[in-house]
Amino acid sequence: MLSKKMETAINHQINLEIQSALQYLQMAAYFSAANLNGFAHWMRVQYQEELVHANKLFDYVIHRNGVVTLEAVAAPPKTWKSTLAACQAGYQAEVNNTKQINALMDQAIKENDHATRVILEWFIEEQVEEENSALNLIEQVKLADNAPGAVLLLDRELGGRQPEPAKE
Ligand code: MG
Repeated sequence: MLSKKMETAINHQINLEIQSALQYLQMAAYFSAANLNGFAHWMRVQYQEELVHANKLFDYVIHRNGVVTLEAVAAPPKTWKSTLAACQAGYQAEVNNTKQINALMDQAIKENDHATRVILEWFIEEQVEEENSALNLIEQVKLADNAPGAVLLLDRELGGRQPEPAKE
């Protein structure tokens, strides 16, 4: 059984994952409008991953006989001033998310809640990948340096991104 405090904290994390999903979906719309369909696809894959995260925590709360309570989700920004700025916002969201996951882990350790620690280990590993892929994207956008040919080439490459296979 989850403690009330842990249940509340995980519920809040479900909300953050959904919020993060929405920001990526809005980014997909932003890039589609700019005819950068590869970037849009990349953001759409990210959106789906965030939903997987939200669902994973949703299922976990239920499996522990907890109660899921969804909160209102704030609207994401509608636009970004450049491709680079959008990618940096995505990275920043990942860094914030990592902080939240770490705080959840601190709580689980404090409570000796071993089951929650195990599921959070999955998320901690996942955040290493999320931060890394968001940072790689920023570096590649910087390398393209607004040269249309380089941006189009990168766009084509991003369009080929496959969703991550589900990790155990
Ligand atoms: Mg996430």
